[in-house]
Amino acid sequence: MSTVAERLAGVRQRVEQAARRARRDPATITLVAVSKKHPAEAIREAYAAGQRDFGENYAQELAEKRTELGDLKELRWHFIGALQSNKAKVLVPGTVLVHAIDRASVAEALARRATAAGLTCDALLEVNVGAEASKAGVSIAGVPELLTQCAAWPGLRVTGLMCIPPAVEDPEQVRPFFRRLRTLRDDLQPRFPLLTQLSMGMTHDFEIAIEEGATYIRVGTAIFGAREPARE
Ligand SMILES: *Cc1c(COP(=O)(O)O)cnc(C)c1O
Repeated sequence: MSTVAERLAGVRQRVEQAARRARRDPATITLVAVSKKHPAEAIREAYAAGQRDFGENYAQELAEKRTELGDLKELRWHFIGALQSNKAKVLVPGTVLVHAIDRASVAEALARRATAAGLTCDALLEVNVGAEASKAGVSIAGVPELLTQCAAWPGLRVTGLMCIPPAVEDPEQVRPFFRRLRTLRDDLQPRFPLLTQLSMGMTHDFEIAIEEGATYIRVGTAIFGAREPARE
């Protein structure tokens, strides 16, 4: 059995290799260690090995771990799950980036909460790149309208796009979806200059995501090991 620190080192090495292949500076890629369903101790282990960005899917779980790990002063929390409007107050303040806004009501709740706290909340829009009925995310066609709505609210800064592509056996098959997210960002950037970030790539496919321009990759299993399937 390898340790969290060893697995983390392996992931970092793969990130660097993928960046090199793509002629990218590895420093432009933030590894978000997805710690959902793993205990606070595992997060401490990763933190001790130099990891600073952590991702959680459930607002309550994030809040509990944030309290428990409050002594880790440099730790940055990312919220990568589906967000309900009534959870905005759990996330702001105390979250560096909300990755998966998929509707105006959630964006507005975050914006209101941030404004009330005298803060700006950074967020990404989740795009349903595979047009899957089972998946969250705004449709590709709906992105400009949602961006326009978000731009009207002080307190919220949408800095990029996020996706979870369709599940496939061969990671090569997700490449077109990652590429689509990147071209969408590139096409929208003249109108929305804040739009610079791409959150894409997980354990299965993060190297391909890096080759296609990911600036955040969200990796859980490769760092922390398998989660209990029953609690997924
Ligand atoms: C769980 C999760 C991840 C990490 O998945 P792994 O396959 O364990 O790397 C990344 N992004 C989101 C949105 C997730 O829910």
